[in-house]
Amino acid sequence: MLSKEGVTQGDLLAMVLYGVALLPLAEILQKEQEDDMQPWYADDAAMMGKAPAVASCFEKLIEVGPHFGYHSEPAKSFVICPLADEAMAKAAFDEKDLPVKYCRGHRYVGGFVESTAMEDRWIEPMVEKWVSGIKALSKVEVRYPQTVYAGFTQSLQAEWQYLCRCVPGVEKHLGPVEDAIHQHFIPALLEINFEEVSEEFRHLLSNGVKQGGMNLRNRVKGAARLHKSSSKASEVLAKSLMEGAALDLVLHKQCVRKAGAEARKERCEEEKAFVKCLMEKAPKAAKKRLERMGETGAWLTVTPNKLNGTILSADEWRDNARLRVGLRPHRLCERCDGCRAGLSIEHALSCKKGGLVCQRHDDTRDEAGSLAAMALTKSRVSYRP
Ligand SMILES: [Zn+2]
Repeated sequence: MLSKEGVTQGDLLAMVLYGVALLPLAEILQKEQEDDMQPWYADDAAMMGKAPAVASCFEKLIEVGPHFGYHSEPAKSFVICPLADEAMAKAAFDEKDLPVKYCRGHRYVGGFVESTAMEDRWIEPMVEKWVSGIKALSKVEVRYPQTVYAGFTQSLQAEWQYLCRCVPGVEKHLGPVEDAIHQHFIPALLEINFEEVSEEFRHLLSNGVKQGGMNLRNRVKGAARLHKSSSKASEVLAKSLMEGAALDLVLHKQCVRKAGAEARKERCEEEKAFVKCLMEKAPKAAKKRLERMGETGAWLTVTPNKLNGTILSADEWRDNARLRVGLRPHRLCERCDGCRAGLSIEHALSCKKGGLVCQRHDDTRDEAGSLAAMALTKSRVSYRP
């Protein structure tokens, strides 16, 4: 099927195409009504200003838009204003014969503008959807912990993270999401009881991987910072929109980078302070573990991929995750197979007769042997001198 107008969903060049095709149109409209603020996001046009000015600007858009392949539909457009102003706005739009809809608040590029009551009603179903998503993942992760963990940390939690960035005060809605993570997701991930996930333990897991956590963010606590850093990052952009001045791209990029780096630094310092505080009261072995935790998490951040050979079995992943947070791996024998002593992690890693040292030694020996046998012949390889 030939696409004669518009941009195909998911096209990587879509944003560039929108920019190239619609910038002249946006400029014409800007000239028409210089007092209106007119932010465009892709093909999403918005206007802010006094009702008569916005109405005539919209009329112009309908008139010249088709020359640029932009067909706006008044019936699908919304006027957002307080109830008291609706009659005046309606008069302005009716005069131009524009059958738009009127409301107190509406979704706008992933966020929400105006009415907080409507915003609440908009957020609540999303929270419900996320909670049921987390619960569903908790069932899957019993068998596929690595895949679910990657999906959760790299994708799902970014959904409410985005909302935290663009809408202030979202944290008051995110309680159920946090509860689902705390009561369902983490217990299933590490195969522990819900009672074992103490507040302190939950806090540690919310740290970044480099700060000894597992990147399972608690947005009830972190939402305000996200919004602050996002507002800071868009300062230059917002100023150019408000003043109707040209956007200084270099300055904008600098601003974004600086805000991101500052927020990251602030978060890392807070996380480090928390780990330090844990270390102070921890016994010696736990202290050592906390000290090294940050350097041993690269495997957690890797996306499981068959081609790259980065897939771990459920047992491999979970054993390592449990070791990382100081829990005994499941199905570990009671006694050492070499010396019959009680098998602790430390013993398994240091016993010269049995445990993992011997197993790892044998693994390496067999691997080297089979490679050598491929190069020569099987009969020429022997495991003993
Ligand atoms: Zn032993």
